[in-house]
Amino acid sequence: MSTTADRLTPNPRDRNAANADSGTAPGLSIVVPLFNEAASLERLHTRLVEVAEHLAASRSLVCEVVYVDDGSHDDTLAIARALPASTLDIQVVSLSRNFGKEAALLAGLDHSRRGAVLFIDGDGQHPPALIDTLVGHWLDDDCDVVYTAKAHRANESWTRRVAVHAFYTLINWGARTKIPEDAGDFRLLSPRAANALRRLPERNRFFKGLASWIGFRQMRIDYEPEARVDGRSTWNTRRLIGLSVNGLTAFSVAPLRFATMLGVVLAVIAFIYGLQIVYETLVYGGQVPGYPSLFVGIMVLGGMQLIMLGVVGEYIGKILEEIKGRPVYFVAEHDVKLAADAKQSATGTRTAAE
Ligand code: UDP
Ligand code: MG
Repeated sequence: MSTTADRLTPNPRDRNAANADSGTAPGLSIVVPLFNEAASLERLHTRLVEVAEHLAASRSLVCEVVYVDDGSHDDTLAIARALPASTLDIQVVSLSRNFGKEAALLAGLDHSRRGAVLFIDGDGQHPPALIDTLVGHWLDDDCDVVYTAKAHRANESWTRRVAVHAFYTLINWGARTKIPEDAGDFRLLSPRAANALRRLPERNRFFKGLASWIGFRQMRIDYEPEARVDGRSTWNTRRLIGLSVNGLTAFSVAPLRFATMLGVVLAVIAFIYGLQIVYETLVYGGQVPGYPSLFVGIMVLGGMQLIMLGVVGEYIGKILEEIKGRPVYFVAEHDVKLAADAKQSATGTRTAAE
């Protein structure tokens, strides 16, 4: 079992060692990140239990669910702990504070014990009924990464659609492995794909990007996300911009390349403009217009340089974070409830990790 001690090891590659001995019967670990999802958790759990029972009956697939409480302020943790492990094992990993969804997903990945891993949001927007389809593509068609993508974005504003498109164009620019546009975090990874993901040592994680970067056999499923029933999305415009900047700088050097190209384009324009001035002065003996063009030139260059310094700064910040080598998250408590125990004695086991 992976504990906080594993997370404290300075070498991120130790994560593999932490997981190597955690294998129980092969099957499927369902990882659910939770941040203030008290209102929808029980309903989601009921649906997950139904899916797990169906998978056990139709494919003899053993399932466990890993709830990662990402420092919720509401009763999410208490509700998760109180869930009965009647038919499937339940792990509740509670993080020491809110570390963000990507960290919560990693915590879930680290604690999964069944081999294959499925990520699903805790707010009910990802239909659990689709899990059966994802499992089918994994087991029947030998796919390693079965990911879901929004079938359309008709219900989103055009500004958001343009921003999303611009983000993916930039992050995929010149990249060998393209991150599919509209892909979400609702995805299934085969055991070897999950292991590949665990072996990636970086701290700044952008799961959508990494899951396509690892390769193997990828498969896309289009689906219609359900409306959020309770609570509200934690992604406001500011957080979305933050996530995009993080994703871009953690995953791609496209902004740096863009800066270089912009510099080249500006230099070429300046050179042509200079040539034109020389030509006009020599041929027509005209006066070179002074202040306005100078002013505009300085403003454009000054602005560009500041922006690009900021971009370079983002990357230096990322390098600093990686070099510091801090753990991505801390586990405050870790509960494990085994379905077998529940059947025998109707009691659960609990291990407090620190
Ligand atoms: N989430 C999390 N930590 C956070 C923010 C969100 O674990 O800091 C979880 C949240 O509980 C949900 C999932 O990530 O299960 C997706 O969050 P949300 O619904 O806010 O995002 P959206 O669906 O709008 O992308
Ligand atoms: Mg959501």
